[in-house]
Amino acid sequence: MRTPRSPYADRIVLAVDIGGTKFAAAAVEADGTMAARAEVPLDGGRSAEAVLAEVVDRVIRRVPRDRLGGIGVGSAGPLDPDKGTVSPVNIPSWRNFPLVDELGRMLPGRPVRLAGDAQCMALGEWWRGRPEGGGARAMLGVVVSTGVGGGFVFDGVPYLGPTGNAGHIGHIVADPGGEPCPCGASGCVETLASGPSMVRWARSLGWNGADARELAVAAAAGEEVARRAFQRAADALATAFLTAAALFDLDHVVVGGGVAAAGAVLFDPLRQAVARNAGLGFLGRLRVDPTSLGRDAGLLGAAALALLEPPGGRTEA
Ligand SMILES: [Zn+2]
Repeated sequence: MRTPRSPYADRIVLAVDIGGTKFAAAAVEADGTMAARAEVPLDGGRSAEAVLAEVVDRVIRRVPRDRLGGIGVGSAGPLDPDKGTVSPVNIPSWRNFPLVDELGRMLPGRPVRLAGDAQCMALGEWWRGRPEGGGARAMLGVVVSTGVGGGFVFDGVPYLGPTGNAGHIGHIVADPGGEPCPCGASGCVETLASGPSMVRWARSLGWNGADARELAVAAAAGEEVARRAFQRAADALATAFLTAAALFDLDHVVVGGGVAAAGAVLFDPLRQAVARNAGLGFLGRLRVDPTSLGRDAGLLGAAALALLEPPGGRTEA
């Protein structure tokens, strides 16, 4: 049974995905069907509040108001789910922005649940991901792009942690004494496996491309430095995945994000590194797969958050 039990079985929930460059929203039925969907880029010309209002309005005007139940929202971090505030790194005007209150004002009386974007991606993959991904009892979803984020789903329930920050897989130390990380530690996975860190490392060895996409093309063409950059990232990610798996008896890791879109140049060395270092018997069960929902994973996860029982979250009067 993969559909979260819902108190809104005959209702539709509003899912919102707050990214660094665009906002997306969808009206989602209890079976995961998207009844309406909209996406609006943050173009810099308008306030983020205006973009939020537009993307929500474009969805809710296509749904009968009395069928609209809770609201689930996934946001780029950092965020404070307790206070319902978000401070996405790429949206400087939003610092401790009261996102939950803002959505509550747009749709009064509905519970609003907030989680990190990678946490929502994990939940979306668990709920609506490819059939062979189903049945995972302990799952980690990971987003590898300009940073490295993650989220856990245990028995179909997202594990967000007491402060809402569980799953910060990018800040597991994979190389003690390695490069300093913006978080203050050294040798974090993010300093080895994020797109910008891979590009920086390759450029320091003479590669002269511009971004992670070009680096993937170069690696696929067999360029030595590019290939080694992916090997290095894969080793760091494998360390993090196996660490998490050893702690939580994971059976599935799903990886999305721009760097993961590179495909085999990442997943081949990644799966090899996981297999090579899975010493304990139960770690040999760990499967590592690319996302099967792509950019919809976050929205579907936000919807699942709103559908999960008990609804929890904060309700605007
Ligand atoms: Zn760090």
